[in-house]
Amino acid sequence: MPELPEVETVRRALASVLENHYVAAAFVGRNDLRWTLPENLAARLLGRGFTSIDRRGKYVLMHLDQKEILLLHLGMSGSIRIHDTPPTLDKHDHIMLTIAASPTAAATHYVVLNDPRRFGWIDLFPAAHQDTHQLLRNLGPEPLGNAFSAAHLQAVFKGRSGPVKNALLNQQLVAGIGNIYASEALFYARISPRRKAATIKGQRAERLAAAVVKTLHAAIEDGGTSLRDHIQPGGEIGYFVQRLAVYGRDGQPCQACTTPIKMIVQSGRSSFYCPRCQG
Ligand code: ZN
Repeated sequence: MPELPEVETVRRALASVLENHYVAAAFVGRNDLRWTLPENLAARLLGRGFTSIDRRGKYVLMHLDQKEILLLHLGMSGSIRIHDTPPTLDKHDHIMLTIAASPTAAATHYVVLNDPRRFGWIDLFPAAHQDTHQLLRNLGPEPLGNAFSAAHLQAVFKGRSGPVKNALLNQQLVAGIGNIYASEALFYARISPRRKAATIKGQRAERLAAAVVKTLHAAIEDGGTSLRDHIQPGGEIGYFVQRLAVYGRDGQPCQACTTPIKMIVQSGRSSFYCPRCQG
């Protein structure tokens, strides 16, 4: 499932082709993904211009002229492809926008949303509703923004008896972290995923906040590299090779101490950690 770094990679790729460009043609192949798509979506996007492309947590927010936002969440299996010649769509390509420098100019790019499992979602709403939108209003601060700090983690973890791993996945406490980067950040912070969230204070909170930032920055850098090194036009954007220390590495030696990495299941999600470094 795409997490903050993958979504940020998608945002950057979309920004490079959408900003100051227009929808010259819009194809919407079905009326639902995870939920029903906005009514008349294709007609409502036709001729519209993109002003800026933002991200909030795992959501891409595409700002349109006339003060509207096209929201994208990739769900479990969604991906974006950007082509510079008209692609042949497959059955899981649900949406395609033909992009041009003006609504009637020749196409510059074709942006395709593919989603085999259809857990992704799309919405189109007035920009004025961003702060009250049901999917956005309860999101915690951006971990790479100014509102995120050790003090923030300590404050929102206070009184939480559940494990810190689960607390990191709670989008209301901090936005954008998923299963992969929660395990990675806890490794670099040398904190057990099983430790009670309420006990993350002082130095531990400092280490965790720093590890979250470091882990996400490193992954965004890898995503950026994947964009620059993109040799196959039309490849999926946002799925890149991550340099992971613990995630998916159960049984393999810890890179710090060679103890085998352990996997446990917490709230139905797998967590990976070094029992020695994160004791
Ligand atoms: Zn270790």
